[in-house]
Amino acid sequence: MPRDPRYDILFEPVKIGPVTARNRFYQVPHCNGMGHQFPAGVAAMRGVKAEGGWAVVCTEECEIHHTSDVTPHAEARLWDEGDVRVQARMVEAVHAHGSLAGVELVHNGLSSPNRYSRAVPLAPSDQICEAYDPVQARGMDKSDIRDLRRRHRAAALRARQAGFDIVYCYAGHGLTLPMHFLSRRHNRRVDEYGGSLENRLRLFRELIEDTKDAVGDRCAVAVRFAVDELIGPDGITAAAEGREVVEMLAELPDLWDVNVSDWSHDSATSRFTEEGFQEPYTAFVKSLTSKPVVGVGRFTSPDSMVSQIRRGRLDMIGAARPSIADPFLPKKIEEGRLEDIRECIGCNICVSGDFLHAPMRCTQNPTMGEEYRRDWHPERIAPKTSDDSVLVVGAGPAGLEAARALGRRGYAVTLAEAETELGGRVTRESRLPGLAAWARVRDYRLQQIQQMPNVEVYPASRLDAGQVRDFGFPHIVLATGATWRGDGVGRKHHLAIPGSDADHVFTPDDIMAGRALAGPVVVFDDDHYYMGSVVAEALVARGAAVTLVTPAADVAHWTHNTLEQHSIQKRLLERGVTIVAQHDLASVGTDSVTLACVFTGRETQRDAASVVMVTTRAPNDILYRHLRADPQNLETAGIASVTRIGDCQAPGIIAAAVFAGHAFARDFGTDIDTDETPFLREGAGHSRF
Ligand code: ADP
Ligand code: SF4
Repeated sequence: MPRDPRYDILFEPVKIGPVTARNRFYQVPHCNGMGHQFPAGVAAMRGVKAEGGWAVVCTEECEIHHTSDVTPHAEARLWDEGDVRVQARMVEAVHAHGSLAGVELVHNGLSSPNRYSRAVPLAPSDQICEAYDPVQARGMDKSDIRDLRRRHRAAALRARQAGFDIVYCYAGHGLTLPMHFLSRRHNRRVDEYGGSLENRLRLFRELIEDTKDAVGDRCAVAVRFAVDELIGPDGITAAAEGREVVEMLAELPDLWDVNVSDWSHDSATSRFTEEGFQEPYTAFVKSLTSKPVVGVGRFTSPDSMVSQIRRGRLDMIGAARPSIADPFLPKKIEEGRLEDIRECIGCNICVSGDFLHAPMRCTQNPTMGEEYRRDWHPERIAPKTSDDSVLVVGAGPAGLEAARALGRRGYAVTLAEAETELGGRVTRESRLPGLAAWARVRDYRLQQIQQMPNVEVYPASRLDAGQVRDFGFPHIVLATGATWRGDGVGRKHHLAIPGSDADHVFTPDDIMAGRALAGPVVVFDDDHYYMGSVVAEALVARGAAVTLVTPAADVAHWTHNTLEQHSIQKRLLERGVTIVAQHDLASVGTDSVTLACVFTGRETQRDAASVVMVTTRAPNDILYRHLRADPQNLETAGIASVTRIGDCQAPGIIAAAVFAGHAFARDFGTDIDTDETPFLREGAGHSRF
């Protein structure tokens, strides 16, 4: 289909200082859990974005010097000449598709405890490092400032040598030295770098001027600036100092990349924000500068993007997560294939890669992080190797993705689902408070499958082992999911919690099914991801008095990795949920529960007419076990393989189920040696490039 002319504006070139972007799609800097540890992986991933039509593709933050070392987080580095070669590889991958490569030079100041380099951290004034390390930063004297400027300049020159087209000066996310200087709460200096806003801005201005002087002839010099820290008058606000900074520097950089900080606000999840959520903060910037302005807001809809441009809010559509979920988003708009867009669901599983120091993964895009090591491409997959047909049982994320990817390979696929509605857990969970966007996991795959004549879908078809055998498909994939346990077995309890077999004990499946329960309710969360908190929210919305009990120190502890923990606990407190942290559920009584302090074991009672166990799930593997129980029967039925994938093998996150479905489809019909590592490794003993 030809492109809708309404979207033509998105494909206009944009001049950025001495360089020109071929369209308005701009992949802003984003970390990826790979960084300097897996640079070949990063280069391949960025190259795919360029191939997918992003006119500008940036690095993650790129440390300029060993005094800015955020180990164990793996970011980019341009500390010295050795890093130039590494970064050049990423630049080449981006240039190969006609895009511009940007590098986000950073000094993290008091946010770098320098665990690897052991350098003394630097700050505007003596103070504690922001990480919970027992490490303090040294207030910089004038010679430190001169050194910093020289080092930043040297890194800019290395960036140019590596071939970058856009070089950033970075004052964002509250984690960067220029931001620390700008901030009244960090900068207590009495010299010309402290006091007035003009003084606090001096270092940032100097860094921009130095960078322009060093590389501005060939490279655009971009600024990333958080116009609002969302902490009120103690910080930078769009109404006051954020605006004044843009006024004071207006024409100095070649491009303004603006957002809010901290990172949890900038990368807020769909549970807490809508598409375009940053506009109220960043909208003013364009009125103060003639230079191109880039901003983000989890943009996946071309109409929203066009609206940003037409209404004079942005010149370029910045994206991190939408480009992760669909590296080919620009191409799909360009080619009029909107129905093929894989929209980001705003879950921040990608972000968790940075915190967990592992290559990022994406719920929607199972090829993310696999471009180099498994040679997976988001839009290409090998054709089928036989005419074998496949029966996929279960249309949750694992089954849907297996059917979609097998279908793309050309296999004849039959997808059978017990329920009338497809989507499995994502359909159920998307009805919980704040999780509506998660239905996109189902919608994208269904949309794709519906276009495939070789994939047939049968809802309302619960299959048993006899039926599966009778159908006569040679290959069976079981994606039958998992069921929440009601007995409390999980991390804390390896045996059932006493009293958990009572009728007033429920599970998240019961809540999602809309079962009525009496209050007050105790939710026992030994899962520590989102489910306990959304169940509590759902119950409060139904009018119940809710207490959330968790053995962890805070609610939904794992969501620190998705930047949500603070927002989740705040929301529960604001909605009146009572939180009892660092307590175990010792037993369930008829109208109360017994809690035990995780440190002392001291027991207390709490009223509970109902209890919801949010602990672990049991795989729905009965069908698998029945089929595998009788190999002779399988052989007679002509069944060559029975494979279980996703939650019915081992319950996990949705991203893992999608990955399992995809991996099955990729590997199907190929010879896999399960003793071999299934991907290329980088690092010690392994070639990087
Ligand atoms: P996953 O995350 O692994 O994809 P889900 O729980 O989301 O798992 O999806 C599993 C799907 O399998 C559910 O929609 C469920 O109704 C379906 N299912 C389970 N058992 C059967 C069966 N015997 N026949 C057909 N569908 C089944
Ligand atoms: Fe979007 Fe989630 Fe993928 Fe991140 S992991 S890009 S938030 S869908």
